[in-house]
Amino acid sequence: MEKRLTEAGMNVTGWTVLSSACTISSWEDVLSGNPTIRESDALLVMSCGGGVSVISGEAGIRVYPALDTKSLGGVCRDETLIERCGLCGECTVWMYGGVCPVIRCAKGLLNGPCGGAMDGKCEVDSRDCAWDEIFEKLKETDSLELLELAKEPKDHARKYRVET
Ligand code: SF4
Ligand code: SF4
Repeated sequence: MEKRLTEAGMNVTGWTVLSSACTISSWEDVLSGNPTIRESDALLVMSCGGGVSVISGEAGIRVYPALDTKSLGGVCRDETLIERCGLCGECTVWMYGGVCPVIRCAKGLLNGPCGGAMDGKCEVDSRDCAWDEIFEKLKETDSLELLELAKEPKDHARKYRVET
C-alpha cells in the first residue's frame, strides 16, 4: 500500500501494524509503534469498519477505510473465515453446532433446510448448504437431538443498535 500511495504522489509519513484496530488501549499506544504518524494529515486504516471507527474516534484527523467491509468473519491460522455471526442479539448458535443459520444459510432458516440444495450446494448462490454443515457438526458432537427442538422466530426487538 505504501508503494501504491507513493506512486500516486502521496507522501506516506509512516505506518504501523496493530494487533487489532478495534481494540486499542490509547491513541498514544498506537503512535508508539511509529511516532512519525503524528505528522500525518490523514490515516488509511486497513481493517474492518469496526477498527476504522475506533481509530477515527481517537486520531483527531481524517481517517479513511482501505477496505469495504462486507462481513464480520475472522482468521484462523492462515485461513480467512467467512461471516460467522449476524449480530442478532439473541444467540442460539449452540443449537446448530456452532454454525449459525442466521448468517450462513442464504435464507436464514432456523428450523431446517429449505430442501433446495443440490449436491451439498445452496440453491440461492454458490455457498455450501449451511444445513449440511449443521447436521454434520451436530452428528460429530452427538447432539442430533437438537434438530428436534422447534426454534422460535428471532426476537428482532433485541437486534437494536446500542445508543452511543
Ligand atoms: S445466533 Fe445470533 S448472535 Fe448467535 S451467532 Fe447467530 S447471529 Fe450471531
Ligand atoms: S440450500 Fe441450504 S443454505 Fe441454501 S437456502 Fe436452502 S437451507 Fe439455506
